[in-house]
Order: sequence, then structure tokens, then C-alpha cells
Amino acid sequence: MSAKPLTGPELKELTDGLNRLARNLWWSWYQEAQDIFQTLSPRGWQNLYHNPVAVLHEVSDYELRARLQDPEFAAHVRKTLNEFNNYLNEKNTWASHHAPELAQNPVAYFSAEFAFHECLPIAAGGLGALAGDHTKSASDLGLGFVGISLFYREGYFQQSISPDNWQQENYVPLVPRNLPLDPVVDARGEQIVCTVRIFGQPIRFHAWRANIGRVPVYLLDTNRPENEGQYRDLTNRVYGGDTTTRIMQEILLGVGGVRLLRALSIQPSTFHMNEGHAAFLTLELLREKMAAGKSYADAAEATKQECIFTTHTPVEAGHDRFSSDLMRLAAGKFPANLGITHQQLMELGNEHPGKTDGPFCMTALALNFSRAANGVSALHGEVSRDMWKGFYGKTKAEEVPIGSITNGIHLVGWIKGPMRRFLKQRYVQTGGDPSKFIIDGNTPEFWQKMADPSVTSDEELWAMRYKLRRELIEFARRRLLIHNRSFNQASYIAFDALLNPDALTIGFARRFATYKRAPLIFDQFENIAKLVRDTSRPIQFIFAGKAHPRDDEGKRFIQKIIHLSNFSELKGHLVFLENYDIHVCRQMVSGCDIWLNNPRRPLEASGTSGMKTTPHGCLNFSILDGWWREGYDGTNGFAIGPDSHPNDVVEQDRVDSANLFHVLTEEVVPSFFNRDANGVPRQWIGRIRRAMVTLAAKYSTWRMVQEYTEKYYHKGGTSHGTLTGV
Ligand SMILES: *Cc1c(COP(=O)(O)O)cnc(C)c1O
Repeated sequence: MSAKPLTGPELKELTDGLNRLARNLWWSWYQEAQDIFQTLSPRGWQNLYHNPVAVLHEVSDYELRARLQDPEFAAHVRKTLNEFNNYLNEKNTWASHHAPELAQNPVAYFSAEFAFHECLPIAAGGLGALAGDHTKSASDLGLGFVGISLFYREGYFQQSISPDNWQQENYVPLVPRNLPLDPVVDARGEQIVCTVRIFGQPIRFHAWRANIGRVPVYLLDTNRPENEGQYRDLTNRVYGGDTTTRIMQEILLGVGGVRLLRALSIQPSTFHMNEGHAAFLTLELLREKMAAGKSYADAAEATKQECIFTTHTPVEAGHDRFSSDLMRLAAGKFPANLGITHQQLMELGNEHPGKTDGPFCMTALALNFSRAANGVSALHGEVSRDMWKGFYGKTKAEEVPIGSITNGIHLVGWIKGPMRRFLKQRYVQTGGDPSKFIIDGNTPEFWQKMADPSVTSDEELWAMRYKLRRELIEFARRRLLIHNRSFNQASYIAFDALLNPDALTIGFARRFATYKRAPLIFDQFENIAKLVRDTSRPIQFIFAGKAHPRDDEGKRFIQKIIHLSNFSELKGHLVFLENYDIHVCRQMVSGCDIWLNNPRRPLEASGTSGMKTTPHGCLNFSILDGWWREGYDGTNGFAIGPDSHPNDVVEQDRVDSANLFHVLTEEVVPSFFNRDANGVPRQWIGRIRRAMVTLAAKYSTWRMVQEYTEKYYHKGGTSHGTLTGV
């Protein structure tokens, strides 16, 4: 029986729907929507880096209309569009019960970077990943929420490796019309253009809107013909250039961000500064209130009541500081607008009250004008209270009003296709409504089921582990082949023999900041080489990560690891994958068996990549720093060393590398290779189940954004956690 052809209006409804769907990054956490674009052009999907907007530009209207006459494809599109519309229109959300007042006056979340998807590379690392996941969960929860950031036309750099194994940075221009972005326009459809003064110059900017489910994120862009060249290029790169560029970008983000919100008639109830980069927004709020007639003191108090601040690192270099001279030049009329002197302005960013002549510290500014501040794990909260006690004039760290909310990830969004289908099946088979998995997959109730062998057997989990490991290995082979400079016919064969699908696969991927100590495990080179020689218990390593363009030490770490992978006994058992990003991250956190994390404690404020491994059945193998210090319970992964650390860093490196090797040989390797008659590692799978039950939902942004809402986003929310016991 043949289906009835679609009529013109029916076709138009579907093509319009697809265009709307492509421009909402909702598809980045709804697998079935991605399948539509992949089906339309499998090769385009791959080559255009999984970008639905670009795929739709690739496919002509003629083709699209023809393809939609395939009843099966049309049914899939219709069903997906229905779910998309239902998601957007859902009224019965968590926030409708817990934070209805934010619908009218949302939270405005300012972040210098957001990572939503690999096709929009406007983030440098974990901070952006967190901001992106925070936003996706804000959408899932139905929270009144808007994001503010910059549109980096050249994004963050693409990494390649030179013949002497030195990182090279390449910048590829992004084209807005090929991205899931909408120009920000007024009611008449005219582009909204605002102005901010930097170095005394009026700088004009417009914005792009990224639609993240129900949440808009506005990306500011100074690339306009009326700006001088240097200002036109201001938003070119993530953390680009020197401190002069940095301060200009931060004035644009903070001051410009508030101005854009006003131009859009958005009146936030709370301004959330995600890291100090955005703290200039407080000066704009002050200025507005004084222009409306308030005294400085009243304006300062009112501004403080509107703002909250999250600090993300104990690493000194992670806190922006600007010299008095630079502030004088860049900030221009700030003091005059506020009726204060330059020296008084400098005092607002003074991290050592009582001392003068220090630089202007953005963290100090943010703390000065926040009704609440927090770190991103319990330990980081403690470390931050200690770090800022002088600023608050306290001798006891416990008296410092900085709380903590432990980071999370957007669980459903991070789960790779095959695992997502696997989990969704279990969800449906235990009575779940398939259209609700996108929400319920984030909840503790769902993950609790993974303890139950009648919901999923050890054998099924082990089969999935093999599938994911093989997919990673084949991904790695393909990448290494493509990036191989001496490519020839024989390479295919050579690269297909690389890495072993039966081996215990140890992953390490993150920014190559030196405190993360990427090459630490190779301090035990002889011991690791011995492990690698044991062919009855094969192990292998996959590394990836970018060093900051000006971090030569980080680049030396990369060089060392690649060198070992080419010219040591580890050859064939160790690879470095170029150009780490969200896509590479997803391959690695799903395919590896063990996720290695060995930061110099307590410098890893939280860490989130380890959280992404849990739903895939990859186990954490980590120093008790950041989130893992509270996540680890003795049954759900592996700890390197005790809940303490030596003060001397040389001693710390020595002790940590010895502990690392000890746990690897005494616990990890024996447990992984402890197999029953059918080759199934029951004990290992028991740990995987424990990890899923105890960690997955807890370290999700579904939980985290609820916590931010209840502690801080509610009107007047100032809970400091440790102080009030909340
Ligand atoms: C999750 C993520 C990170 C964060 O990794 P950490 O181990 O927490 O430093 C960094 N980069 C990308 C691309 C990520 O997806």
C-alpha cells in the first residue's frame, strides 16, 4: 500500500519546522533530532562537524521536499518536531513549582565562555563546558534564565602538532549564517545595536542569539564596519591577545551585556557572574542606579542585592588583575559616572584591604558586589574561604561568607548514542514514557535502576563496554591516520593495528594546564613499561588536550607524551589525539575503562570530565581533589592517595606518582582482569553499577541548577552553606 503524498502546505510545515529545529541547540541533547540531519547527508553531517544548519544549507530545497515524501523519514521528522514543540511549550516544569517568579524576572548568567556543541567552538575548556551544561539544565527545569557571552568569530584555536611535536594554533573563522545562531533584532526586525565606551571610544556591538531549548544565550559581537579595526577584532578570540584585549573584552561582556539586556527589555532579578571575567557588570548596575538618582551608598547596596558570584579556581593566574594605569585608560568615565576618584575605583578591586597600590582584581570586585558567593566543590569552598579571609578581614576561614555548590554535567546531553539507546530502552521497559527520557534520564530515580540485574545484566553491560571501547579505538585510528603526515597506502594497515580492543584503556584528556600534571604517570616509566609488556593483561593509554597558546610548559608536556608514544617501549600502547574538544571528549569518556585525573591537590576546584564517564561505565581513577573527594565512596571507582596532601610540591609529585602506580597495579589491573568462565569481570561491573547509582544523578547540572535556585536564585537568596548549614 502506498502512502498518500504530502501536500504543499504539509511539506512547508515540515521544512519550516526543520529550519527552526536546526536553530535550537535542543538537538544537541536530543539524539533522535540529530539522526534526521545525519540521514539527510551522512557525509555532510560528518564533514560539517555535526552542524544541522550547515547540513540544511548543503541540501537543496528540491532534495529536502523530495526526501520528505519518504513516509518513514517524514514520520520521524513529524514525531521529532512534535516532541520539540512539546518541550518548548511544557508548562508543568520543576521551576513552575519551585521558582515561578523567575519567569518574569530571570537570572542573567554571564560567562566569558559557553560550550554547547562542537560546531560552535566558543569555549576554552571546563569553565565553558560547565556554563553550557548549566544552561541546558536551566532549560530542562523550565527556569527563567538568560545567558550572556561574546561571539568569538575565530573561536578557540584548533590544535595541530608540528613535526617536532610542538603544538600549533590555527584559527578558523566562524560564519554566523552557517551556525545555529539568530541575529538579535527588535520588534521591527532591525538589528539591535548598542554602545559601550572603552578607552574613551564608543564601541558599537550587535548580538547573536543561541537558542538552548527554552533559554536564550546572547553573544556580543563588535565586528561592525563603524568600529575601528582593532575594536572590530576585539571579539575575535576566546581569551585572545594580551591584558589590554582582556580588559576590553571584559568591559564589553560586563557593561555591554547589561546594556543589551536593557535594550531587550529583560529585567533580571539576579545577575550571576560565572567567574570574575564578568564582574564589570556591577559597575554598570551602579551607574544605572546613580543615574536614576540613588546615592552611591544606596546604589552599592542595591547592586550587591542583585548579584551572585561563582569562583572557579584557586590557581592565582586564573584571577584577572589589571594595573592602575590600564584601568585608568580602559575604564575612562567609570569613576566620573559613579562620582568617585580613580583611587576609589581601584579600591573596589583591591584584594588586600588596607594596602594600596595593588592591581585591580576582578574577583575582589565580584566579591564586593555579591549578596552570595560560592566555590564549586566542598573542598574548593574551604580553600576559597582560606584564600579570601584577608579580603574579608577575618582570621578564621570559617567566618568567610563563601559557600559551595559542587559542579555537575548535563547527563543526557553527554551520553553517547549507543549508550543512550541502551539506557532509554531500560527506561521504557521499566514503565517510562519514551518522550520523557530527555528529562527523566537526569534523575536519581532512573539511575537507581542500574543496580538491578533484572533491568540490565552484567553480560549486557559488558557487551556495551566492548562496543564503546571499540568505537573509541576506531575513532582514534581514523584521527591518527588523518593527522599522520607521512600518509600512504601502508598506513591504513599500520593504523588499523594500532590500539587493542581487549586492553584496559586508560584515558586522560583535559586542558594541559601544568597543575593537572598530564605526564605524571610516566614518572614511573620503567614500571609502566613493565605493565605494558605483560601481554596477558594488556593496558593502553589515550591522551588528548590543548595547552594555552602562551603556556610553553604545557606544550612541553604534550611534546613529551607524543615523543613517548613514538619512540619508547610504549609505542602502540600510548597515543595522543589532536584537537581536543567536546566531540573528542565524548568519544574518550565513553570508550575508556578508566579516567585518570592527577591534579596537584587542591588546585582542581571541581573537574567535570570525570563525571561524564559515569553514565558510560568508565570508572574514575583520581586524586581526592575537587568533586571526586566527595564522590568517591570506596566502591564506585578508585582513589589515588589519601584525603590530604604534602605541602611541598616536589614531595607531592613523588608521593602522588608512587600512589598512582600502586593503585593501578594492586587494584585497577587485577580487578579489570578478574574474569569468570565466560570472560565477564563481575566485580568490575559491580563497580560500574555502583558508580551509576551513586554518582550519575548527583553530579548532574539537573541537581546543581536546583541547588543554585534554592540557595541563591530565589529573591534575596544568600545561603552560604557552611555558615547556615543549608
Ligand atoms: C568537560 C570538558 C572539560 C573539563 O575537563 P576537566 O577534566 O574537568 O578539566 C574540558 N574540555 C572539554 C572540551 C570538556 O568537554
